[in-house]
Amino acid sequence: MKAIQVHEFGGPDVLKLAEVPTPKPEAGQVLVRVHAAGVNPYDTYMRAGTYAVKPPLPYTPGSDAAGVVEAVGVGVSKVKPGARVYTAKTVTGAYAEYALALENQVQALPGKINFSQGAGIWVPYGTAYFALFYSAQARASETVLIHGASGGVGTAGVQIARAMGMTVIGTAGTDKGLDLVKREGAHHAFNHTKAGYAEEILNATGGRGVDVVLEMLANVNLATDMKLLATNGRVIVIGNRGEITINPRELMLRRGVVRGFTLWATTDTEAADIYAGIGAGLENGTLRPVVGKELPLAEAPRAHKEILEPGAAGKIVLVP
Ligand code: NAP
Repeated sequence: MKAIQVHEFGGPDVLKLAEVPTPKPEAGQVLVRVHAAGVNPYDTYMRAGTYAVKPPLPYTPGSDAAGVVEAVGVGVSKVKPGARVYTAKTVTGAYAEYALALENQVQALPGKINFSQGAGIWVPYGTAYFALFYSAQARASETVLIHGASGGVGTAGVQIARAMGMTVIGTAGTDKGLDLVKREGAHHAFNHTKAGYAEEILNATGGRGVDVVLEMLANVNLATDMKLLATNGRVIVIGNRGEITINPRELMLRRGVVRGFTLWATTDTEAADIYAGIGAGLENGTLRPVVGKELPLAEAPRAHKEILEPGAAGKIVLVP
C-alpha cells in the first residue's frame, strides 16, 4: 500500500510517499481502508520532533482516518468488514491507504457524514467536547468565546456550544473565516487581527464578559482572555505555541480559572462519553464537520505547511 513515512524528524519535506506492506489485523485489531485522513496541527509538531509524544522512526503520521472496515482480527465484535468507520487514534498511522486500529479506536460513521468529514471528527470534536463539558463545565445559559473559531477545533466548538444553547462568540483572521464562523452558528464573529476587537467582544456581552474562553493560541491571547472573563469565568487553554506574561490579578478580580488539557490523556470512560455525545450530534445533524481543503496523500508536505498558516477554513484532509 501507499503510505506517508517519516524517517527523520524535520520540516514538511521529511513526509515521503512510500510503498509499504499492507498491515494485517491481529486479535482485537481492525484494518480500515482509508478514504480520508485528517491533518491536525499536532501532526506537524510530532513530525518536527518537538512534541511531547515522539514516535519511534520510521512512522506514519495521523490519528484521524475515515473509511471502510477491510478485515477484522480474532475476537473483534464491534464492527464487521464493510462497515463505515472513523478512527480515534490508530496503531499504524492514518496517512496511508490502510490503517490498523484497535477495536476501541474505531467508531461508526453515520451515513450522512462523508469520508472527508469523517476524517475531521476525533481530534477537533473530541477536543472541543472535552473543553466545553469536562474542562469548562459549560452551561446552556452561559456565553463562550471561541478564540480561533475558523479551524478544526473552532468550528467543532461553535457547533457543539450552539447546539447546547450557549451564546457563542467566535473569532477568525479573514473575512472568509468570519463568514464560516457565523454560518456554523456563532451569534457574533470578530476579527482577531483587527485592533480593538477585544473591546468589541466585551461590548457584545454588554460589558459583563464571557463565562468561558476556548483558547487556540494562548501564548498570544491569554492575558487578554483573562480581562474578558465574567465573574467565575474559565479560560480553557487548547492551543499554545510559546510563552506569555500574564497578570494573575486579572483572575483574582473575577474569581477566574485558567485550565489546560491534552486530548491524549483522556481516559476510556471520558472517551466513551465523547463518542456518545459526538455520535448523537453527527446523527441528528447538529454536528457537521467542515472540510476546507482536500489534497492527495502525496501532498502531505503542503498540508503540513498550510495548516500552520493564517486563513483557516475548516479541516485540511488527505485523500489516499
Ligand atoms: P487549525 O485548524 O489550524 O485552526 C487554527 C485556528 O487558530 C484558526 O481558527 C485560526 O484563525 C486561529 N488563530 C490564528 N491566529 C489567532 C490569534 N491570534 N488568536 C486566536 N486565534 C487565532 O487548528 P485546530 O485544529 O483548530 O487547532 C487549534 C490549536 O489547538 C492548535 O494549536 C492545536 O495544536 C491545538 N490543539 C490542542 C489539542 C489539545 O489536546 N489540547 C487538541 C487539538 C488541537 P485564522 O486562521 O482565521 O486566523
